[in-house]
Amino acid sequence: MDPSPETHPKTTLSRRRIGVFGGTFDPPHIGHLVAAINARQALDLDVVLLVVANVPWQKVGHRTVTAAEDRLAMMRAAVGDRDDLEVSDIEVRRGGDSYTADTLGELLDREPDAELFVILGRDAAAGLASWERHDEVVSQAQLVVVDRPGPPVELDRRYRWLRVDIPELEISSTELRDRVAAGLSIDYLTPSAVVDLIAARGLYRNAGAG
Ligand code: NAP
Repeated sequence: MDPSPETHPKTTLSRRRIGVFGGTFDPPHIGHLVAAINARQALDLDVVLLVVANVPWQKVGHRTVTAAEDRLAMMRAAVGDRDDLEVSDIEVRRGGDSYTADTLGELLDREPDAELFVILGRDAAAGLASWERHDEVVSQAQLVVVDRPGPPVELDRRYRWLRVDIPELEISSTELRDRVAAGLSIDYLTPSAVVDLIAARGLYRNAGAG
């Protein structure tokens, strides 16, 4: 199997092509949205699901994670009303630790003909081997890495990857949390509806807390 990233092959099949872009999204920001929308366009996907993790088990113990309901509400506010991006609560409803293998299985149970594309940023892609049942993930979906133009990120060479170049936006959820805690503006780093929700719910006011 060719381990190097490649541009995607066009398909003439009519199976629904569904992007699965998961995250803690604590909080969501324009980097997430730009990645999702560019993957959708580049791979000719019917929709990209923004899957909000219930318990991002690899982050637990490292920092306080904001309540899933708040993160879900923020992602809904971020996306607004679009046909090509859809916020998914599949992991929040399932409860417990969030494993992508379970999510893909549930999506395929609902829509067995769907063609799934797991979309990952460069760090998430580099950490795939640490995931619970990552072989199951790879067997259920095509892996996609969204990366800045230029030399590709080092990827697990056992798997076949598609690569989508996206504009580089040096912005992270950590930076947004820190800015809110410091009383700095996050305007334009995330959609205004998210800025308003963070203020209304009093999120991220305490440094180091969720
Ligand atoms: P996150 O920090 O909220 O990030 C979500 C995604 O957005 C990541 O792919 C991230 O890539 C990307 N991203 C962040 N900032 C970006 C920017 N400025 N431009 C472009 N892309 C950007 O979520 P996460 O906690 O890493 O989780 C990612 C997914 O992996 C989730 O679905 C989670 O459930 C899954 N996961 C699964 C397992 C498992 O065992 N099944 C284990 C770990 C994670 P970067 O990582 O490159 O920032």
